[in-house]
Amino acid sequence: MKPAAFEYVAVRTTEEALAELARDGQDARLLAGGQSLMPILNMRLATPRRLIDLNRVGELAYIRAHDGGVAIGAMTRQRAVEKSALVARCVPLLADAMPWVGHFQIRNRGTIGGSLAHADPAAELPAVAACLDARVTVRGPAGTRTLTADQLYWTYLTTTLAPTEILTEVWFPTAPSRTGHAWLEFARRHGDYALVGVAAAIMLEEDSVAEARLALTGVGARPVRARDAERRLVGRRPDDAALADAAERVKQVTEPQSDIHATAEYRRHLAGVLTLRALRLAVARARQAPPVTT
Ligand SMILES: Cc1cc2nc3c(=O)[nH]c(=O)nc-3n(C[C@H](O)[C@H](O)[C@H](O)COP(=O)(O)OP(=O)(O)OC[C@H]3O[C@@H](n4cnc5c(N)ncnc54)[C@H](O)[C@@H]3O)c2cc1C
Repeated sequence: MKPAAFEYVAVRTTEEALAELARDGQDARLLAGGQSLMPILNMRLATPRRLIDLNRVGELAYIRAHDGGVAIGAMTRQRAVEKSALVARCVPLLADAMPWVGHFQIRNRGTIGGSLAHADPAAELPAVAACLDARVTVRGPAGTRTLTADQLYWTYLTTTLAPTEILTEVWFPTAPSRTGHAWLEFARRHGDYALVGVAAAIMLEEDSVAEARLALTGVGARPVRARDAERRLVGRRPDDAALADAAERVKQVTEPQSDIHATAEYRRHLAGVLTLRALRLAVARARQAPPVTT
């Protein structure tokens, strides 16, 4: 299928994009890598009157150390994030999850901002952002605001961004020392969206869990943070009984939906299995983790 006719404008700065959105907001869509938007247009699930192309906005493509973490411009290609030595060193969970986003051809075009703004509840990056308490910067006519993943995600493919706003940056905190991370997911074919994915981060002190972070994708309308399971781990030795207890809690509290890809029961089972495996891997990595500096 072909998209319905639309006007096209290529902007060169964020300011220009904001001005275009201010004029046309309700009827316009931002074009980033096009890896989700173009299929949507081709299937005529969206018929915007105007596309505002961000691909020439160089100021939105960067990865840099900032404020005790790593700041990534919205138009940074997913492949650049995957290949970044700074990301691998400081935000290993993001580096772990990146190769699971589609295929490398998709990651060559797809952007980190597009993936976060698209808000697919089966996508990897929103769950990583939720797990690490990433901060998303948004610019609009009223100025700049900063959101957590919890504040950004509303429901299926829907964020709290206004049509006149642009997601400009995402910031991830540097992993504290003695922290291990793991991203695990299960998809029917490599490159497909995950049926279920789990992000885990474990910080150890002596041999007890000082901090635990768990977030899941594919089990709800938005990324799900498993805070109850996290609380169960804190202060305990991370032996198999403790990890299995947390994984069981995740299984009990997640409420996935059945769809053409998997039943709710199967997704719940996967959530438990993958959480246990991700926790074991995160603990093993935490025990070997060197100190991290940005
Ligand atoms: C075959 C296939 C398999 C895929 N598999 C996966 C997968 O396993 N996991 C996964 O996570 N993704 C997957 N994707 C999607 C891919 O990661 C997309 O790149 C991503 O979802 C959207 O990024 P994009 O830069 O292409 O955005 P676009 O497609 O250009 O835009 C997506 C949406 O976000 C909006 N938008 C874009 N940038 C901004 C911004 N800066 N501010 C505000 N709104 C913005 C657009 O207006 C649009 O509504 C797959 C895609 C394909 C085609």
